[in-house]
Amino acid sequence: MQPTPIAAVVGGGFYGCMLAERLARGGMKVTLLERESDLLLRASLANQARVHGGYHYPRSLLTGLRSRANLPRFVAEFPDCIERSFTKLYAIASRHSQVTARHFVGFCRRIGAPVEPAPPRFGRLFDRDLIEAVFTVEEFAFDAAKLRRACHGRLADAGVDVRLSTEVTRIGPHGRGGLVVSALGSAGEDLLWVDRVFNCTYARLNTLLAAAGVAPIPLRHELAEMALVEMPEPLARLGVTVMCGPFFSAMPFPSRGVHSFSHVRYTPHTSWTDGPDGILDGHRSMGATARQSHFPLMLRDAVRYMPLLADCRQVDSLWEIKTVLPANDRDDGRPILLEHDVGLPGLSCVLAAKIDNVFDMLDAIPMADAPPLRRAA
Ligand SMILES: Cc1cc2nc3c(=O)[nH]c(=O)nc-3n(C[C@H](O)[C@H](O)[C@H](O)COP(=O)(O)OP(=O)(O)OC[C@H]3O[C@@H](n4cnc5c(N)ncnc54)[C@H](O)[C@@H]3O)c2cc1C
Repeated sequence: MQPTPIAAVVGGGFYGCMLAERLARGGMKVTLLERESDLLLRASLANQARVHGGYHYPRSLLTGLRSRANLPRFVAEFPDCIERSFTKLYAIASRHSQVTARHFVGFCRRIGAPVEPAPPRFGRLFDRDLIEAVFTVEEFAFDAAKLRRACHGRLADAGVDVRLSTEVTRIGPHGRGGLVVSALGSAGEDLLWVDRVFNCTYARLNTLLAAAGVAPIPLRHELAEMALVEMPEPLARLGVTVMCGPFFSAMPFPSRGVHSFSHVRYTPHTSWTDGPDGILDGHRSMGATARQSHFPLMLRDAVRYMPLLADCRQVDSLWEIKTVLPANDRDDGRPILLEHDVGLPGLSCVLAAKIDNVFDMLDAIPMADAPPLRRAA
């Protein structure tokens, strides 16, 4: 009889959790290692909580189509984590937008995304000179706290060994053909002898590769601020996104009972690219930097488009590193990255793109008895 293959999944965000569960159900013995004190405390929590329906990506047909395919799967898998009791408006700016209303509607039809001209009571919320058209669409938000609870349940059910407050500090080959993982937890350092390691650390992907002595993957990072706000009553049951350029978006943020508020120009505070010349551990440097909110700048601009926003009140800001593939700078597309045998046999790397396209990763993941590994689409 073949011995049970052993895997370590590093990173207990949504992607690491879903992957660990999948591998365990596929017949592997799986340990999930997370340096924070709980699952889903980093990017999987500190994001805009949008369950993408494709509308956001009029410049990337593939990302729009994948979002349409993944949305119903996500809703079916996590029905209790979905917030849908709000109206979602997409408004097209008259100036400086990379799409027109005609282009936006044509794109929605091509990807099969429901879109309707918004009733006049919604249109009147916007400045008519600055907004060409307003549409109602089908877009939901997810509750990250409920998603965390769902992940705990699924991992327990699948028999995954979950180790919190445990940082992987080193990965190397071992003589018997597998990998050895050094995991530093509250009780000290532990060594795990495994067949496969899955690097699901998102913004720290290259930090972990460096810990394995492997060259970095070119990745672009930005320090992002997502303001949390209380919306004025007339806007409280709305989500709003202005397309497509240096504009703003406000979405219900269910895990805190407020709205998140982002702005294409002001949400990123700083950005950098990892490459052969070096990498920066954004999580560590975030802690060392004094931060001043850009919310006043976000609001000052947004009020020009939607005057009632002037009564919006900031209650907090979420700060997180957003990591993307530089190759998608031009079209804003969001494919995942899934690479196997990265620098070391048995070491795989996953770069998430959006919560919903976790299924693009799962569909491309090998099971214990599966044929050879292949790349994700
Ligand atoms: C500002 C912002 C807004 C976004 N908005 C949306 C949105 O509206 N909708 C959407 O679908 N997506 C959005 N995204 C993208 C989405 O949040 C990410 O694609 C997704 O959450 C990444 O999941 P993950 O599990 O890969 O990463 P994470 O949730 O960051 O998980 C990685 C984990 O690895 C752990 N880790 C790191 N290094 C180690 C180590 N050495 N040892 C052990 N553990 C380690 C970290 O602590 C972390 O918990 C947004 C992202 C950001 C930053």
